[in-house]
Amino acid sequence: MTRPEAQHPPEFAFVEVALPLPFRRPFTYRVSRSVSDHLQIGCRVLVPFGKRTLTGYVAELDADPPEDLDISLVKDVIEAIDDEPLLTEEILQLTRWAADYYAASWGELLKAALPAGISSLAKRVFTIVDSGRSLVEQKAGQRALKWRVLEHLAGERPTDEAELNKLFGSGAKRAVAELVKGGLVSAETELAESKVRAKRQKAVRLLQAEGFGDKPLTDVQQRIIDALNSVGGEMLFTDLLAAADTGASPINTLARRGIIEVYIRDVLRDPLAGADLPEFEKLTLNAEQRFAFDEIAASLARENYEAFLLRGVTGSGKTEIYIRAMRAALERGRSSLMLVPEISLTPIFSRRLRAVFGKDVAILHSNLSPGERFDEWRRIKNGDARIAIGTRSAVFAPLENIGLVIVDEEHDGSYRQNEPPFYHGRDLAVMRAHISRAVVVLGSATPSMESFHNAQTGKYRYLQLQNRIGGRPMAQAELVDMRDVFKAAGKDVIFSPRLVDAVNETHARGEQTIILLNRRGFSAFVLCRSCGESIRCKNCDIALTYHKRDRRLVCHYCTYHIDVPDVCPLCKSEFLYFIGQGTEQLEERLEKQFAGMRIARIDRDSMKRKGEMAKTLLAFDKGEIDILVGTQMIAKGHDFHNVTLVGVVSVDTGLGLPDFRSAERTFQLLTQVAGRAGRGHLPGRVLIQTYYPEHYALRHAAVQDFEAFYDEEIKYRERFGFPPFVVLGSVLFKHKDEKYALRSGYILRDALDRQNTDGFLRLLGPAQAPISRLKNEYRYQMIIKAASRKTLRERLDAAIAEAETLGFDKRIAQVQIDPVDLM
Ligand code: ADP
Ligand code: ZN
Ligand code: ZN
Repeated sequence: MTRPEAQHPPEFAFVEVALPLPFRRPFTYRVSRSVSDHLQIGCRVLVPFGKRTLTGYVAELDADPPEDLDISLVKDVIEAIDDEPLLTEEILQLTRWAADYYAASWGELLKAALPAGISSLAKRVFTIVDSGRSLVEQKAGQRALKWRVLEHLAGERPTDEAELNKLFGSGAKRAVAELVKGGLVSAETELAESKVRAKRQKAVRLLQAEGFGDKPLTDVQQRIIDALNSVGGEMLFTDLLAAADTGASPINTLARRGIIEVYIRDVLRDPLAGADLPEFEKLTLNAEQRFAFDEIAASLARENYEAFLLRGVTGSGKTEIYIRAMRAALERGRSSLMLVPEISLTPIFSRRLRAVFGKDVAILHSNLSPGERFDEWRRIKNGDARIAIGTRSAVFAPLENIGLVIVDEEHDGSYRQNEPPFYHGRDLAVMRAHISRAVVVLGSATPSMESFHNAQTGKYRYLQLQNRIGGRPMAQAELVDMRDVFKAAGKDVIFSPRLVDAVNETHARGEQTIILLNRRGFSAFVLCRSCGESIRCKNCDIALTYHKRDRRLVCHYCTYHIDVPDVCPLCKSEFLYFIGQGTEQLEERLEKQFAGMRIARIDRDSMKRKGEMAKTLLAFDKGEIDILVGTQMIAKGHDFHNVTLVGVVSVDTGLGLPDFRSAERTFQLLTQVAGRAGRGHLPGRVLIQTYYPEHYALRHAAVQDFEAFYDEEIKYRERFGFPPFVVLGSVLFKHKDEKYALRSGYILRDALDRQNTDGFLRLLGPAQAPISRLKNEYRYQMIIKAASRKTLRERLDAAIAEAETLGFDKRIAQVQIDPVDLM
């Protein structure tokens, strides 16, 4: 029998560990005092979880175990991975804040904050450094374990902890720790069995520049010295073989004579290695740019949190302002973080930054190999790169001392992570700036409703660039009324005669065309071909979605539904049109219609191959492609000077999405894509084909009038209760058994109703989700509207806890705060 005191002697402590699982609460583990003394918050630890072993993150040290916990069941931490957290204090704070804000799992957020792959098993690798090497020579033959370990490291390649343990027994750990402390050995955390690890290569460096002793150098040896001298004394072994036209043995001979040294060095994989860098042009800011830049620079000088919304029409020179602001931050000794949308990070832009800032820029985006990503991440962490630019998850870049945060194209949907942990990169960027007392600049030609609203209410300071650089005119868009085209042709037409003519004329002039196919529509909706109206919900004013299975039109927000009508409810015409079907053939038709032109496509599929997209964009930039066809990806950020025509083929699929943001998105898309035309010295033309030219999103986009659009859209948001006037939450229930999914939905809904007797929350659903079935699972969603995020979260948490006792299955439910894509 064990006595309680014996079971839990004070040499143990309890720690709370956040695990990368969809649980909000951390788990309690036991750890020996000697280990816990070296732990810090955020350190990774290996822990048992059920049958698995997981990497978790220390959330709390010296925790009092929760009262309801049976202490005898608490398991032990298997191993502490880090003595020092990989994440900075600031990232720990940011992820913790985000976990709270998004009702997400902190462990999942921490995992997302580290480069992919690093969260698997890690190991510490030890490498001897120069001072260690020279000490070994002086003290050769010493018996103490420490010296034996050092000698071993001097003779071998880098060695990890497990290997040292095998060779020297359990004392090795302490011995090597002392060597690291004494600066004789360097330690680095590496992944045990992952693709992602530091890359090492043999390199050679010159030790003596002259005075090689009595023995004259041979020709080969002289070539080796010359080759090294020509590059500053240091190069990779393999490069030296080629440069000096030699084999390995003359190099080794020189090394034995002490003239050169062969050593192992870390090679950083550089995503831009070998790229041609553009000429760095020195531009003079125009008056608008100067004003905006001065405001930002003055704010940087105040060294405090401040947020700007920079609205600049496409081609107004926002990028130049970002670059100068980053330089101004660097001059103040502060680092910068810049977020760009998934697709905007064109090779052209990264090269431009590299041309300006050299190795001070690190690039983090999803097309890097895991190794490249890891190396860029380490360069940031070590302080070698003080500017980090990247997509969504770069918001977690381990920069220290951030002075400036930039979010380009801040309205872009790709900043929202659409799988757990759900978060919004832009919103976290603002929070990060807040934590670091930094200046944040949100830039866009078409700000999100939320951000512009913040500028209107004074939460953000508003800066504007109203003119294009060099006074180039804005491309005016022409709306092509497809109802007329339909009447004239008497049948379905995909490319209107006007668009066909325009493409041919453009081609004849040797200029280029972009054709945008809006294929985001995953669901069909009904549009009247006579009046152009889509059929909408009377409660939510959201397009009703067509469900073939039961021939019904359904609202995905509030469960309202009607049978498919035979005639248009508005104009009584019979020409109802089921949009969202058959758009696949568009691309085939295009190739037939414009046979003889060089056509390239950019879409999700063609992006899958690494580098494929960059290649296509570069080829288009060089004029090797006549027509670039693509989905919304091609609309953003690119700067092609020879594009004079942009055609938008199926804009209505966007407007008909069952999403309260469909008008906003359509407006943004059209404005962005229109901005692609006429970037150089040639004027541009934009043709938008639509069945609904009266729609305000189209009218205002055609003349690129953001403020007029905002004024109209904001009224709709207010009237029907959508952001920014309310906070949204959503819960998705999915299960292969439809009844089971719905049952959980109803139990939670009832529990929420009980939390909500004052009616503070507005609850909609559960209703069929826009994608009502996916991967063999039925999907229902509940939408929650509230005036305060805090109350929403509190009531939702309480309702979930209660519902769980009544049979609600939490595993099939996905909670989102501020959802962007309701699917
Ligand atoms: P935006 O990001 O606002 O769409 P860009 O930053 O891409 O606009 O600028 C459009 C073009 O104008 C780029 O080719 C850029 O090099 C050029 N440019 C920017 N500022 C100036 C300036 N002050 N003088 C001359 N050219 C400029
Ligand atoms: Zn009609
Ligand atoms: Zn509705």
